[in-house]
Amino acid sequence: PDKCGIDILPQNEYNDIKHVIAVMSGKGGVGKSSVSALVALSLANKGYQVGVLDADITGPSIPKMFGVSGVPQHDENVMYAKMTEKGIKIMSLNLLLENEDQPVIWRGPIIAGAVKQFWTDVAWGKVDFMVVDLPPGTGDVPLTVMQSLPLDGVIIVTSPQDLANMVVRKAVNMVNHMNIPVLGFVENMSYLRCPDCGKEIKVFGESHAASLATSMGLRLLENLPIDPALAELSDAGQIEKYDRELFKGLDDIIINRVTS
Ligand code: ADP
Repeated sequence: PDKCGIDILPQNEYNDIKHVIAVMSGKGGVGKSSVSALVALSLANKGYQVGVLDADITGPSIPKMFGVSGVPQHDENVMYAKMTEKGIKIMSLNLLLENEDQPVIWRGPIIAGAVKQFWTDVAWGKVDFMVVDLPPGTGDVPLTVMQSLPLDGVIIVTSPQDLANMVVRKAVNMVNHMNIPVLGFVENMSYLRCPDCGKEIKVFGESHAASLATSMGLRLLENLPIDPALAELSDAGQIEKYDRELFKGLDDIIINRVTS
């Protein structure tokens, strides 16, 4: 390991994972898991092989949004990633819990160890883009992921309420410290579009995302609206049916920045 403790884990013989992108937020509830899922979906819709490594056990889970459940198949060597209807591969601690309502009463380092095993002991097969949904904040699990997975970049998800807060800067500083490129910000829940007149209502006030991003030398990649359809489809396990054009180029940025 070097001075940041970076000790990138090798891939196992089952896997050919080309690029890894992590999705991070300063705090919970800003829509980080939703953005992870939507990034995965938009890349899959472009024909790429996509995996989602769910390292966030705090929120409504990635498996739930994609409607996958049940303990993954395994043999003595590996566990096989679950497949969604669209062929997105998924692994999550939530799949391994008998009852998703149970809290995971493991300490951070134990969870971090489990997340490492999602890299070393899971058969993902061929993956062009692996999206890692990190838990909110800058704790053990994000640190372990940054130290042990070969991250090509990190997307920071914020909400308008979030931005006055130090937590976003903390997250960015952590990624910078680990010498991993920050691809930029995605501001979620930026506005609500009135279904009658089409006007954008700034529920949480004017956005500071662009100026915050600029002050850190970063880009605001996207402003996502509050969309009840997204919440409904996620709750129903059908996020793959969400067909609104969202990432006007975020996926291109990912593809270009990460593969160049
Ligand atoms: P986080 O991962 O940051 O904790 P989630 O992605 O789990 O946040 O989102 C929290 C809740 O908000 C979920 O119920 C999700 O469906 C909902 N949500 C997230 N983003 C949006 C959005 N843009 N429009 C509507 N609901 C959203």
